[in-house]
Amino acid sequence: MHQFLPYAWFQGQCVPFEDARISIATHALHYGTGAFGGMRAIPDPTQAGTMLLFRADRHARRLSQSARLLLTELSEETILSALTAMLQANKPQQPIYLRPFVYTSDLGIAPRLHQIETDFLIYGLPLGDYLSPEGVSCRISSWTRQEDRSLPLRGKISGAYITSSLAKTEAVQSGFDEALLLNSRGKVSEASGMNLFLVRDGELITPGVEQDILEGITRASVIELAETMGIRVIQRPVDKTELFIADEVFLTGTAAKITPIRQIESTTLGTDRPVMESLRTRLIAITEGRDPAFEHWVTRISI
Ligand code: PMP
Repeated sequence: MHQFLPYAWFQGQCVPFEDARISIATHALHYGTGAFGGMRAIPDPTQAGTMLLFRADRHARRLSQSARLLLTELSEETILSALTAMLQANKPQQPIYLRPFVYTSDLGIAPRLHQIETDFLIYGLPLGDYLSPEGVSCRISSWTRQEDRSLPLRGKISGAYITSSLAKTEAVQSGFDEALLLNSRGKVSEASGMNLFLVRDGELITPGVEQDILEGITRASVIELAETMGIRVIQRPVDKTELFIADEVFLTGTAAKITPIRQIESTTLGTDRPVMESLRTRLIAITEGRDPAFEHWVTRISI
């Protein structure tokens, strides 16, 4: 059972979580016509009464762009001020995950995006490690990552997560922790809710934005961080075979942070992961507000 934060943002205000209710006829519930965000907020270890949000501006921008892809409007300012109000109402004392969601709130049965009401809500919950930081096992999914010509992959569109859900459950039910999805061209795309990186000969390799990935904010941050640390980053198509011979393979995402992969199908990968370790250590310091060079990635909100 999840323990949700006591207050949610719903219909333009903070209300008790239990009072934020929607109808069973809600359009988005039936058609997946919503888009969500996912961000972490942690209490500032050095300053009581302050929450640290990692790249809040990027998360707000991506959600605003997702709303546009659903043919509705939701400004970055609206998102950020609702997040602030919600944090101030809840005053969390532990690390939390925030889930903002824009969706077609109309009641009715026609799949469409025109002449339809939309709404925006946020709820939150405490969240520790989503995947084991020690490493996970992955299977190559029998499901194919969707294509951008079928649905807008630059947004976190709710309906798209049927593929992630099927892939994750297939992986878990066959004894693995996570799923790696190939795209329709047979190239490695990403995991069920994380982007993927490989290390080969000291270079960091990740599928480019044209490989039907979600443009992850952790991914973009790891790329920028690696470059400032003098690690060469190459964005290019990745073949399945490369996964088995890479020196290191790891996943990135808001929920997963940086999680190493220890096994893919029946191949066990090495446990010496100097590149992943150095990036992870640095990223943790940044998210905890301990890295002056990357202060600008952290938003401080007084609660
Ligand atoms: N891919 C998918 C499909 C995701 O849902 C997520 C999580 N938002 C990611 C990648 C990682 O993105 P981010 O680093 O922005 O959390």
